[in-house]
Amino acid sequence: MVTNLQARDAATVLHPYSNLATLPRQGSLILERGEGVFVYDVDGKPYLEGMAGLWCNALGHGREELVEAAAEQMRKLPFAHLFTGKSHDPAIALAEKLKELSPMKAAKVFFCNSGSEANDTQMKLVWYVNNALGRPQKKKIISRIKAYHGVTVASASLTGLPNNHIDFDLPIPGVRHAGCPHHYRFAEAGESEEAFATRLAAELDALIEAEGPETVAAFIAEPVMGAGGVIVPPETYYPKIQAVLEKHDVMLIADEVICGFGRLGEWFGSTALKMKPDTVSIAKQLSSAYAPIAGVIIPDWIDEALTRQSEKIGVFGHGFTYSGHPVAAAVALKTLEIYERENILAHVNGIIPGFQARLKALGDHPLVGEARGTGLVGAVELVADKTTKRSFDARRAIAAKAVGFAQDEGLIVRAIGDAVSICPPLVITSAEIDLLFDRLTAALDRTEAWAAA
Ligand code: PLP
Repeated sequence: MVTNLQARDAATVLHPYSNLATLPRQGSLILERGEGVFVYDVDGKPYLEGMAGLWCNALGHGREELVEAAAEQMRKLPFAHLFTGKSHDPAIALAEKLKELSPMKAAKVFFCNSGSEANDTQMKLVWYVNNALGRPQKKKIISRIKAYHGVTVASASLTGLPNNHIDFDLPIPGVRHAGCPHHYRFAEAGESEEAFATRLAAELDALIEAEGPETVAAFIAEPVMGAGGVIVPPETYYPKIQAVLEKHDVMLIADEVICGFGRLGEWFGSTALKMKPDTVSIAKQLSSAYAPIAGVIIPDWIDEALTRQSEKIGVFGHGFTYSGHPVAAAVALKTLEIYERENILAHVNGIIPGFQARLKALGDHPLVGEARGTGLVGAVELVADKTTKRSFDARRAIAAKAVGFAQDEGLIVRAIGDAVSICPPLVITSAEIDLLFDRLTAALDRTEAWAAA
């Protein structure tokens, strides 16, 4: 039954990333408050937050210190900008801290408000810097099928998922999509992970050759693809890809929007998966989602090129009103302080084995074709036939059904195609991980019964 609040929601809120036809009939889950890794709906029912919101709420809910950091900054200076001739301490201190943590030698940090804006900025920087370096033909950016880099015109173009392109007249020119490193779905019969990685690197090499290396500027990659279905590449994938990029002088942009700040047990996913990025996009766990803030970390050579260009043409014409918003920056700084003080990396590394063991055990469930993941992120892909890997008829929306059952059981997880993704807050305990997987198993059992009926 749709409640009054749900009806008001359906009548007024245009929901992002939702089926706008079915949502009014189903009604949104309307949340009211949170505590630790639990959120509560308006009727007071608790849910274990198995997605950390949208891969972002690392520290869970109710962190008074973060509330205080925001309130204190709001009292002192709620707004100041970074445009011509202005700056403020929270942005400076945050940039300094990010330079210290950066997975590559960093020069500066450009602040923005969302992961999409960060990747939009990445694309504009690639174009601008190559103009500045006197090679205006070197502009193309290669992303990957199933990648998710956001929804602005540029970042949605980088995204490699059809519903971000169809009817939006995207992608824009100059974007190419290479193969997706998902062995379970895209390996040839009998192809080992190693051989699969070798083939993908060879295909990338061929793509760059076909485009003309002098026209290809950058390759962008999430260390682990998140919204494409939690896809963990083979172990040797990035070193092989990196060699191809180096051969053709193509820079590597790491989209650390999900993997950054501890998700894979290190500060950055790049380090965990042996990537050597030139630039990095950050967002989400940067502030543990207590305030919207994102950024791009750039190396010396880009910074120098930007400065030289300003000497020639003046103003660097890019930036947002809320770039480095002082309240968001103060919250992010406090978040990083808490991560360090509570030794969040040690905690995450301590719970990863238990999380991955429970996740991989779901591979034995009759509905699960693949249980995949690394660090503190994973997914189960639901199939109609485990042997042939045959998918369910898309109209059955099997993963959405499982997510609905999980919600009944008091667990929030997310459907991505036929996969159910799991990405809990980093502060989750081992006992809460058990509860998460107990509830997910119950939901999968109910889904199996529903599918068989
Ligand atoms: N990049 C990655 C890897 C993401 O997962 C997301 C969002 O989930 C984005 C970029 C876009 O971030 P936002 O939704 O903050 O614009």
